[in-house]
Amino acid sequence: MSTVEAAATIEVRNPADGSVVGRVRDHAAAEVDEAVRALRRHQPAWEALTVRERAEWLMRLQDWLVDHTAALTDVVQSETGKSRVDAEIEVPCAIDLARYWARNAEAFLADERPRPHSPIGQTKRLVRTFRPYPVVGIITPWNLPLMNPCFDAFAALLAVAAVLVKPSEVTPLSAVELARGWAEIGAPPVFSVLTGGGDTGRAVVEAVDYVQFTGSTRTGRAIAVACGQRLIPYSLELGGKDPAIVLADADVDRAAAGIVYGGLFNSGQACISVERVYVEAPVYDRFVASLVEQVRGLRQGHDDRGFRVDIGAMATQAQREIVRRHVEEAVAAGARIAVGGKATDVGVFFEPTVLLDVDHSMACMTEETFGPIIPVVCVADEDEAVRLANDSVYGLSATVWTGDRRRGERVARRLEVGAVNINDAYANLQNYALPMGGWKQSGIGARWGGAAGMRKYCRQQAITVPRGPMLRREPLWYPASRLCSRLVTTLMRMVDARGRRRLPIRLRDTE
Ligand code: NAD
Repeated sequence: MSTVEAAATIEVRNPADGSVVGRVRDHAAAEVDEAVRALRRHQPAWEALTVRERAEWLMRLQDWLVDHTAALTDVVQSETGKSRVDAEIEVPCAIDLARYWARNAEAFLADERPRPHSPIGQTKRLVRTFRPYPVVGIITPWNLPLMNPCFDAFAALLAVAAVLVKPSEVTPLSAVELARGWAEIGAPPVFSVLTGGGDTGRAVVEAVDYVQFTGSTRTGRAIAVACGQRLIPYSLELGGKDPAIVLADADVDRAAAGIVYGGLFNSGQACISVERVYVEAPVYDRFVASLVEQVRGLRQGHDDRGFRVDIGAMATQAQREIVRRHVEEAVAAGARIAVGGKATDVGVFFEPTVLLDVDHSMACMTEETFGPIIPVVCVADEDEAVRLANDSVYGLSATVWTGDRRRGERVARRLEVGAVNINDAYANLQNYALPMGGWKQSGIGARWGGAAGMRKYCRQQAITVPRGPMLRREPLWYPASRLCSRLVTTLMRMVDARGRRRLPIRLRDTE
């Protein structure tokens, strides 16, 4: 038997119907080490290219993505069981991101020449450069199997790093396709995908120079500890419990429609899903009526390439069990199911569900559900809504629904979250000029957000270069001289201090 045949594999199933749709290697730590060594060898040649040449490789990958959109969407759908409408957005988002980084890389990575902060510093020319962490490891979850690796890999590649992606063991096939695309266009071997489970992920953390992680808060914490031991930097995009606030002046039907999409896109398995809703009392009844009617009208099921289905399957049985527990515990504690509420028996589905009469003693209001349920609470006013929205260990994003955009912005600034969409859901996810990052236990660092989203993969180097003629020796160089020391310190005080404190002490005393 060959080594490859003997090696461990992972079977990938479509959760909508249980069929086996692929099989990948479960890579061992030694293979991760070998892959990282290879990436390290190839990274200098990648760094030797011009920014434009590297951007051109990314645009060729973009061409490949465009040319293979339908086939890639099939792969996404097959390993997640999601509806076609939810699957179809993944490739276009990757295409959009590729263009964003390719167009901006040159400006984002250009040297900076800041002015010295003080007149004394005028003797130097200052340069700030951005040099990559040579190998960036990207570890991704199962909810958006193509988008998740692209979210971070494109920026890291154009930041001149070599990149190793470790996709979720639940949905590894889309990332494998991405690596196939990179190889097919003939790009330099600085992008690899290694499949495997948690142990493979751990080996990645042990081998790379920077870790970009997206996944649960629990795993994120373990990765932070491991990175801390190695003293390497990391960025964590973690879980959430995103609130929606519906104010009394909102367009209630639009708010309900937006919250249906925000809460149920991808069967609720999105980090920025709406996970709890606070509605001002005057519009509570109307909002709930509209929400329930719209959720009741949703079509759920398995419809390969068609659009007869709105909501698809959940990715794993384990995730569905969390949803079931949240609903059952809430009902046992007095909550009411307005629509949905059950797991269905074929495939891994859970009915789109609206829960009423809920409160913060229930897991469905405090723990991340990551499933298709929308719990709704009636609040007295904006202050109560803000207080409850902020009463969470998470702080990923939020939505605010109001007829007054200024008021929406005011409320947004009171929320302890990394992003707020006003009268919309998911808008921040498609605006790469803004950072996407969680506060509190939802993460550390951020992706995108202009130059910062690329520079985070770089080490900054400060260079000082003399300007003009140089002295034979600088005033503070040895041997020690009282005159030179006093000259320098007096000059510094004259520049930096305020009012008469600028004067030499002797002059001040005789004033
Ligand atoms: P997870 O934490 O279980 O796994 C994520 C990845 O980490 C997988 O590839 C897994 O194999 C790997 N992994 C597991 N243990 C590891 C370890 N000790 N060291 C290194 N890697 C390890 O998360 P999941 O269940 O796949 O995804 C769902 C979670 O992802 C949810 O909490 C969701 O909120 C979060 N998520 C966050 C964002 C965001 O941008 N904030 C986006 C999507 C999903």
